[in-house]
Amino acid sequence: MGNFYKDNIRLKRQFTHPLMHEIVALREKNYTESEQFDYAPTDFEDAVECYDSTMALLGEICADVIATNAPYVDRQGPSCANGRVTYADGTQENHRTLTEASLYGMSLPRRFDGLNFPTVAAIMAAEMVARADAGFENIWSLQDCAETINEFGDEELKAEMLPRIARGETCSMDLTEPDAGSDLQSAMLRAWWDDETQTWRLTGVKRFITNGDAHIKLILARSEEGTTDARGLSLFVYHKDWGGVTVRRIERKLGIKGSPTCELVFDNAPAKLVGSRRMGLIKYVMSLMNGARLGIGAQAVGISEAALQAAHQYALERKQFGRPIIELTAVAEMLSVMQAKVDASRALLYETARFVDLAKGYTEKAKNEGLEGDERQRNKWAQRNADMLTPILKLLASEYSNQVTYDAIQVFGGSGVVEDFPVARLYRDARVTTIYEGTSQLQVVAAVKYISNGELPASIRERIASISEPELAERFTHLADELEHAVNYCTERGNDLFTLHQRRLVEMGGHIVMSQLLYAERGVDERAEQSFRHYLAMTEAWSAERKRFIEIFSPEQIGLK
Ligand SMILES: Cc1cc2nc3c(=O)[nH]c(=O)nc-3n(C[C@H](O)[C@H](O)[C@H](O)COP(=O)(O)OP(=O)(O)OC[C@H]3O[C@@H](n4cnc5c(N)ncnc54)[C@H](O)[C@@H]3O)c2cc1C
Repeated sequence: MGNFYKDNIRLKRQFTHPLMHEIVALREKNYTESEQFDYAPTDFEDAVECYDSTMALLGEICADVIATNAPYVDRQGPSCANGRVTYADGTQENHRTLTEASLYGMSLPRRFDGLNFPTVAAIMAAEMVARADAGFENIWSLQDCAETINEFGDEELKAEMLPRIARGETCSMDLTEPDAGSDLQSAMLRAWWDDETQTWRLTGVKRFITNGDAHIKLILARSEEGTTDARGLSLFVYHKDWGGVTVRRIERKLGIKGSPTCELVFDNAPAKLVGSRRMGLIKYVMSLMNGARLGIGAQAVGISEAALQAAHQYALERKQFGRPIIELTAVAEMLSVMQAKVDASRALLYETARFVDLAKGYTEKAKNEGLEGDERQRNKWAQRNADMLTPILKLLASEYSNQVTYDAIQVFGGSGVVEDFPVARLYRDARVTTIYEGTSQLQVVAAVKYISNGELPASIRERIASISEPELAERFTHLADELEHAVNYCTERGNDLFTLHQRRLVEMGGHIVMSQLLYAERGVDERAEQSFRHYLAMTEAWSAERKRFIEIFSPEQIGLK
């Protein structure tokens, strides 16, 4: 029997991070929930013990059920007939097993039958599920839609929808349309008020909707007739029992084949408004997407971890020229690069999750009892960091999962491209992570403002202050100088040059942050030290290369005037 939690010491360690005390105390309202629910933790140790045992249970299901089913699900895939989707057999078994183990609704409040786990724990669960089967993780993690209902819905809507999600009803997030992809403000699916039945109704088409035949949907729709921009969009909730939505077809895809990607027809489907009109995209979908981007970060790390472990095991067993290929420098280097990228991605994933937890915790506290002393500042600090790091995580972790799975195939040689081994599937599954929940280019657009307003460079300098070894502090200072030089170089030469190089600037900043997070983790074991040294060296090389490229490459050279 395997266990994706117990076989990876890098997961459990997240619960002992110094910020966890603050996060858990906020989540548990200073452990007062235990007065109301006898299964709520009474102190920090009690809470961590509960996370630990739940993760161990999920880790076992991931290894023994979901990962075992993954190759069959990949081959069978879902099917669509008469407007409805049927999951592959393995997907149905995965879903049944997790429902029976009460592993849905992890982060929901207890009063809605959830476990009230912090984001750190929910994200860890997502990483493990994705390591087992990235396509299934899509279906499982869409329960995050519940967070949006919980945050912005009224009490009646929450009481109606949230316990269902905790019981295993699945969700979908219906934003994209044929003519509204990255540019969601041009969504045109129509929401209209039906006087006769006193309900909102939805009419139109959505495209590329993961798990589109879900029980509960969140839908972005145009409620304000005659508008064409974001201010005319509202968010609605729909339940399958209400009727009026059919699946026109499901896409045939490169990867994540177990996850049905649906084209949907809304035929005057009844729906309920979430929160206030006109705030659909501006407020609610932005929040929903930030959560989903963190989820894709976890998915990317899970896929990368699976590829790294498979490649490592294969390199130990495969012999060429009379010795295991892991002893060949070229193979050992590939594995070391893969490991450094996985560890750097994971470090950023949990750092971001911690900031999200802190920001959510203080925001909730502000609503219920108000904030005291420096709590207001701490809330702002956490929110700013969460907003800044989320797009950087999504960008880099998803790009790395593509690179790591590519290298994993290389380590396998010819066996890598045949479907008898898992790495071919992992490679196909990784590809979409740089596209959905906002493409890499859109993550750059979201992150670059923290470069131009100086917040990311400043946070890098702040972290340098805690580095005690002079040699390392000097190397990080040099990296911070290079980043600032590159930013100033572009800024001084105008908008076009800045726009051309904005991805390079975000990447430079992101690589430094990841190196700094690995610095904080080193010393734990040999792997952590190796990953830090390797990632820092790569960061230095990439930084010098990007800085040079920025100096010699201008918009004219790609044909732009
Ligand atoms: C398998 C799968 C599952 C999905 N699941 C869902 C789901 O559950 N719910 C949902 O609502 N949507 C879903 N999507 C849709 C997904 O979010 C979009 O595909 C994605 O946002 C990109 O939109 P697009 O495909 O229309 O590409 P486009 O927006 O047409 O982009 C094409 C290219 O132009 C670039 N580009 C566009 N605008 C800019 C810009 N301003 N600056 C720089 N570059 C830009 C893009 O980066 C990309 O390279 C899914 C997609 C796939 C493939």
